[in-house]
Amino acid sequence: MMTTPITVTPVRVATLLAGDERMPVFVHLIDHPAGRVLVDTGMTELHPAVADMDPQLEPLTEKGIDLDGITAVVNTHLHFDHCGGNHLFAGTPVYVQRRELEDARTLDEYTIREWVDAPGMTYIEVDGEFELLPGVRLLPAPGHTPGSQIVVVETDAGPVVIAGDSAVWFGELDEPTTEGQRLIRSLDPHQVWLAHADEPWPAGS
Ligand SMILES: [Zn+2]
Repeated sequence: MMTTPITVTPVRVATLLAGDERMPVFVHLIDHPAGRVLVDTGMTELHPAVADMDPQLEPLTEKGIDLDGITAVVNTHLHFDHCGGNHLFAGTPVYVQRRELEDARTLDEYTIREWVDAPGMTYIEVDGEFELLPGVRLLPAPGHTPGSQIVVVETDAGPVVIAGDSAVWFGELDEPTTEGQRLIRSLDPHQVWLAHADEPWPAGS
């Protein structure tokens, strides 16, 4: 049986100050025979609301990526460091869980709301599990936020998960405590890419 080759590429788009350390912010490109999907969009500008995290930007627009070739965008969730580049994709479908979009639009101090509702955004609200492309699924993964989702990519080596902040550091997957983290472990993934880690989990994979 033929297996479709699908690749996942991390792209670092910023660093943020978290306590005494700088933490990277990654987005992930999925190259699929039927399209190119971007998971999360990082940040492209500074904002007073998050100045205390001293963002150092390396925006997507300066990475040599053909943004016009991206056929769909997925937001794992809508915190500011995951949706700050959404405005670059006006007219492109942006897939997000319905609950997440509702929370981002209604809860105080949840995100930078004008980055969510940038001009021309086309949100596709997903309610639960969704097959975006053959071998690329969105799964609700509550924990970091109630409306978080992960992206599961079927590869020859096994499932590769793009987890957003469902786990922020490796220890949260070693010893899962949230529904989302337990879901990730239940998939028996080959690799899990986190938004704020340089390497995939498990270490050395
Ligand atoms: Zn984050």
